[in-house]
Amino acid sequence: MLPKRQVWPSFSKNELKTIGNVPLEEDIRALSAWLKTANDESIFYTHRLSEIYSPAKKYKSVASGILSCIINREMGEMVIWFKPEMITNVNWAGNPEKSVVPSENGLMSLSPRKSFEIWSEVVNNTSEKWMAEEVDSVLRIREIIIADINKKANEIRLLNEKLQAAYEELDTFSYTVSHDLRTPLTSIKTYAELMLKNKSIDDGGKKMLSRILAGADKMNSLIKEILNLARVGRSEVNFETVNIESLIKDIKSEVWSAYKADHSVLILGQLPNIKGDKTMITQVFTNLIGNAVKYSAMVNEPKIEVSSYIDGGEIIYSVKDNGIGIDNRYYDRVFELFKRMDNVKEIEGSGVGLAIVKRVVEKHHGRVWFESKLNVGSTFFVAFKNR
Ligand code: ADP
Repeated sequence: MLPKRQVWPSFSKNELKTIGNVPLEEDIRALSAWLKTANDESIFYTHRLSEIYSPAKKYKSVASGILSCIINREMGEMVIWFKPEMITNVNWAGNPEKSVVPSENGLMSLSPRKSFEIWSEVVNNTSEKWMAEEVDSVLRIREIIIADINKKANEIRLLNEKLQAAYEELDTFSYTVSHDLRTPLTSIKTYAELMLKNKSIDDGGKKMLSRILAGADKMNSLIKEILNLARVGRSEVNFETVNIESLIKDIKSEVWSAYKADHSVLILGQLPNIKGDKTMITQVFTNLIGNAVKYSAMVNEPKIEVSSYIDGGEIIYSVKDNGIGIDNRYYDRVFELFKRMDNVKEIEGSGVGLAIVKRVVEKHHGRVWFESKLNVGSTFFVAFKNR
C-alpha cells in the first residue's frame, strides 16, 4: 500500500517536482539538503519532524511527518512524502506530571497519586504515524527506481561504446581515403609539371596545365588538413610540458613565410608552459595564429597579439587580431567542419582548422571560445587545465 498523502519532489538537474499539499520550494530544498547529510539510511521517516529538525515548525501544518527515500545521495535525488499535523488529545488516568513531586528535602521522589481523575493533554507538532506497509511500499519503489536507472545506465553505456566505435571507424575511413588520394594526386601533379616543360605545348595548353597544378595543390592541402583532423581523433594525448614560447617562435617563421606576412606585427605577452600533447598543441596555435594573420592581412596595420592569463585552475591563452571579424549570428557554427563565413569567400581556406582546434582542446579537457566584431577584429581563447 502506498502512503496516502503522496508528494514526489524529484531532483534531476536540481529540479523539484511536487504533487499535492507541500511546504514551500525553498523549505523543501533546505529539508532535502538536511536529509542528505543528517543520516546514512536511504529510507528515513518520522511523525515528529520538528523535534529533530526545528525549521520544520514553520510548515508543521502540512509536514509534521515525512517519509524520505534517497535515490542518489551525491546527486541529491530523492522522493519525500509528507503528512500534515494531526492535533490529538491524549487522556491520562491522572496528571502524568504529578506522579513525581519534590519532597521536603527538595529531592524528586515518586509519590502515590491522590486522585485519578482523567487528565487530558493536547499533543501537537505530530502527524499520523507511518505504517509498516507504507514504509515497505517505499522500499519497493526505491528498488524499482534503482533497477530502472541501472537498466538505463547500461543502455547509455552500450550506446556510447557503439558511438565511440563509429567515431573511430569514421576517423580510420577519412584517414585511409585521404591517405590513398595522395598517390594519384602526386601522379597528376608530376605529369602536369612534366607536360608544362614540354616545348611542343602552346600557351593555351600551358595555362590549362597551370590550372590543373593549382587545383592539385589545393586538393593536396585539403587532404593534409583532413588527415590532421583524423589523426587527432585517432591519437592518444601524450601529456608533456610544452614550451609555448619556443613553439610560437617556430610557428611565427612558418606562418609568416606561408602567408608572406612581412607587414603583420606579432606582439607577445606572458607565454607560460602548459601540459599537453606537443603535436596537437602546435596544431592549435598554428591554426589560430594562421587565421589571425590570414584574416587581418588586408587591413592597414595588421597586428596579432598572443598572451595569456591564469584564472582558477586554468591557463587561458588568447590570440587576438584586428582583422575582418566574424558575424555574431554564426557564433555557434564557426567550429563546425568545413564551415566558412560569408566575408571570407575571397580568402583561401578549407574550414577545417577550427574543427581541429576544437577537437584538440576537447581531448585535453579544455575549453575554446571567441569574441569578435565585424571589421574590428577577433580574439580566440583556449583554456588548458593548469596541471
Ligand atoms: P579556414 O580554413 O576557412 O580558415 P577555419 O576552420 O580555420 O577554416 O575557420 C573557419 C572560419 O571561421 C573561417 O573560414 C572564417 O570565416 C572564420 N574565422 C576563423 N578565424 C577567424 C579570424 N581570426 N578572423 C575572422 N574570421 C575567422
